[in-house]
Amino acid sequence: MKKETRRIIIFGETKSFSTMRLRYIHMLTAAAALLASVTAFAQQAKEYPKQEPMRPGMSEYWTPQPKIVTPGLQATSSAPSDAIVLFDGRDLSAWVNDKDGSPAGWNVHDGIVTVDKKAGDIRTKESFGSFQLHIEWCIPPMDAGFTSQARGNSGVYLQNKYEIQVLDSYQNETYVNGQAGSVYKQTPPLVNAMRAPGEWNVYDIIYTAPVFKEDGTYLYQPRVTVLHNGVLVQNNTLIQGTTEHIGFPKVVPHGDGPILLQSHGDPSPGISYRNIWIRRL
Ligand code: MG
Repeated sequence: MKKETRRIIIFGETKSFSTMRLRYIHMLTAAAALLASVTAFAQQAKEYPKQEPMRPGMSEYWTPQPKIVTPGLQATSSAPSDAIVLFDGRDLSAWVNDKDGSPAGWNVHDGIVTVDKKAGDIRTKESFGSFQLHIEWCIPPMDAGFTSQARGNSGVYLQNKYEIQVLDSYQNETYVNGQAGSVYKQTPPLVNAMRAPGEWNVYDIIYTAPVFKEDGTYLYQPRVTVLHNGVLVQNNTLIQGTTEHIGFPKVVPHGDGPILLQSHGDPSPGISYRNIWIRRL
């Protein structure tokens, strides 16, 4: 029997195929086309629910409401209602002598307290972790012969470990990481915002306590922000360790600690403090 053939053109060439073979080719072509259409359908984007359009209320929350705190008087920077008053001009009942815990021996008069260098450092009875501290201080006018670190030297120690320097830095040069507003022997103040002797200076200190690892090193270093007379002088500064007079900072594990005010051994007249309050954070 004569075999039936057909001629078709593939890619520009004329070829002969038997009828059976041609049917086979048609079937394969149809199957491929079906497979392609199924694949294309499967690849069409699956329909998911549309993202709900944002409304203002979706990014607002109302609770918990921040506690209401009554600010102190602007004129005097007196303590806000949730602060612990450490010195209000009347007595040093919140303080003890650092040496032996006996009554703080500094001289309270006229609503202020003046350092008694014979008595030594004083510290708060209470201990603190992270806090906001307000403290005002005044360098008395004195002879020009008192210079550098020997002119109104005192200090505010955070957790009894880290000194924010108090010094007469008004037209009185010294090493910059030891002038007023410095993290002593570590970080100088960003600017010198010092008022003249006889005028009152203000420190507002925001301190974040460190967290220690089991091996006694810092997991998170202590940090401090200081405003001196309303001017930023330390901006979330990392404290490297204790503020040593001689030697480098030491990392000493500790928990909460008191605020300590320094009675410095320099021969210049003792400085004065007033209006001291603290808020735990
Ligand atoms: Mg000092």
